[in-house]
Amino acid sequence: MKTVAAALRAATQTLGAGSDTAALDAQLLLAQVSGRGRAWLLTHGDWPLTPPQARRFSALVARSARGEPLAYVRRRQAFFDRDFHVSPAVLIPRPESEQLLEQALAHTLHDFSGTVADVGTGSGALGIAFAALRPRARVILTDISPAALAVARVNARRHGVWPTFLQGDLLDPLLARGERVDLLLANLPYVRSADLPGLEISRHEPWTALDGGAEGMDLIRRLLEDLRCVSQPGALVLLEIGMQQGAEALRLARALRPRQAQVYQDLAGLDRVLRVDL
Ligand code: GLN
Repeated sequence: MKTVAAALRAATQTLGAGSDTAALDAQLLLAQVSGRGRAWLLTHGDWPLTPPQARRFSALVARSARGEPLAYVRRRQAFFDRDFHVSPAVLIPRPESEQLLEQALAHTLHDFSGTVADVGTGSGALGIAFAALRPRARVILTDISPAALAVARVNARRHGVWPTFLQGDLLDPLLARGERVDLLLANLPYVRSADLPGLEISRHEPWTALDGGAEGMDLIRRLLEDLRCVSQPGALVLLEIGMQQGAEALRLARALRPRQAQVYQDLAGLDRVLRVDL
């Protein structure tokens, strides 16, 4: 029977061709299969795997070796220190988006009880993490994709929050219900259509979550156009943007005559967040 150490060694070798973190990837996959933590695996190298465990592990390693993102193979991704369910129906949450959430949290106190919308929520990571940390807020999650909303529902349950789920295009579901929000968060698709086919992420992640049209700004522009109709006076809006979109995003935001509009850079120094104080 194969031991933990032997299985990890073989998998690390298989994954090494396509990953810089092959040993870690192998440990995470075996943790998934065995229900044990990485620390346990590393201290129980001579533990035998059962044949079903060994088979299941091989299958996951093979998927990962073919280039499928580890988050989809494991069906989970950490975001803001929380564990989120993900499937190929949603974009995998990225650390870059954590900065947007940090700004939303910095702007609100723990007992904040306003209305918040996460538009194009996908897995729900932004809105659900916010809801968990601001338990009195009324949180609305929207997405055009029913399959994405199903993933977000799993995550809401997992994190013990009860947001409202609305299916629809951008602000349409909010407009239809006459909602007025105090805070709006969104990580909309912002990749230029022409760039998509050449990008590694577009091989596995949903194009609906990535394709932002010719300049990548189609959805951001449409959202900004309707923004005044769904926001309370003084609302705060935080949008994730692409690294070359800072100037255009600011131009569009200033057309709304807000109290303030600003672009923030991520840890790599690239434009990443548009902040509009209406
Ligand atoms: N995170 C992806 C990127 O930087 C884009 C995600 C999106 O379009 N919102 O390429």
